[in-house]
Amino acid sequence: MYPSGLFSLQRDETYPYERYAYSVLSIASEAFHTQKLPLRMSVDFTQQGQTASPWIINASIEYQLENGEPVAFVFRMPALTPAILYLFTTAIITDFFDADRSKEFQKRPDTLRQRFLHFGQSVTVAIREYRAQGFAHAIRAAYEHLGLRISTFQRSSEDYNLLTMQMAYHEVAHGYLKQVTRKGSTKVETSAFELLADLVAVAWFYNHMIVNTPDTEEYRQFRRLKSHADSIFMNAMLTLRSQQALVILMAVAGAQRTGGAVSLAAGEIHPPGMQRFMLQHVMLYTLIASNFGNLLLPERLEALQKEWDDNLDTLVRAGVIPLKDIEAMLDTQQCDTIEAAANLIKELRVPELQRLVPTLRAVRDWLTDAIAGRRKR
Ligand SMILES: [Zn+2]
Repeated sequence: MYPSGLFSLQRDETYPYERYAYSVLSIASEAFHTQKLPLRMSVDFTQQGQTASPWIINASIEYQLENGEPVAFVFRMPALTPAILYLFTTAIITDFFDADRSKEFQKRPDTLRQRFLHFGQSVTVAIREYRAQGFAHAIRAAYEHLGLRISTFQRSSEDYNLLTMQMAYHEVAHGYLKQVTRKGSTKVETSAFELLADLVAVAWFYNHMIVNTPDTEEYRQFRRLKSHADSIFMNAMLTLRSQQALVILMAVAGAQRTGGAVSLAAGEIHPPGMQRFMLQHVMLYTLIASNFGNLLLPERLEALQKEWDDNLDTLVRAGVIPLKDIEAMLDTQQCDTIEAAANLIKELRVPELQRLVPTLRAVRDWLTDAIAGRRKR
């Protein structure tokens, strides 16, 4: 269900809506089929909910139950959110990962901050127009504020697609894990399900982006690459980048919730952003290094890690990811969440994650040691 007014808009204005809906429905029909879940589902951008405003960066899954079993699924996103995610991609993400621009941001992190301000202003414009004149005007005004045109769309549409694909996969994973029919979950377990949904989403994203890379001349010509190793390296780089784009988005969503400061501190249910971020990254990097280690030379694996580290450094220096959020990761309660997640993977026999259990436990031990080390000081 699309907001009325959407179809009076241009192609680059409707794309964010169509693309998110496509990501949800394509992965859900595959994943729910393997779990023998009903395939009755819809994507709804129209309901504002009682608490959420139409511009909140959020996505959700709702279940229709009969006799305790799900019979249908509704995937929701607030009315203006897909457009806001597209504004975010064009104002920040595409340039953040552009070779030349990223060097500039590295040298002068304040210029990156400026981008966040500019993006924030476009959201303010959208909200004002939404209240005054409605949906279509809001989108048009925000696009105009950022000066978006068709050339912007050509540069940023794929970045938008990869960013929101991860959000779609996370929501679908909640359904796939059958979390809704589980009885008597504790708070820790509910948090652990968030980690699980993240990790299942990473596994799907990795399959889609890297494992499914065609080893054909035609594909290489199309991408202007020389070898299959080049294709894998390129796609691994793209995947890691869009994972980092999601982290930056989480920082912005945190800022929205707290009404100002950009933060990754979480609410009650979601574990802190930095921890989720670290686990998703460890998982993705482990999958790449263990399955493609013979194809990618050590220099290339190092290059992937180096870009990640350099970008994280820029984000910290620009104040997008505050150091206190990295500190918040060192919390004993967080070790419980990881342990609960590892146990759930075993109990629910999640095929995508079986091999990850040792990695998860290693992260838990590393955190436990880090906390103990800090106490001693
Ligand atoms: Zn979730």
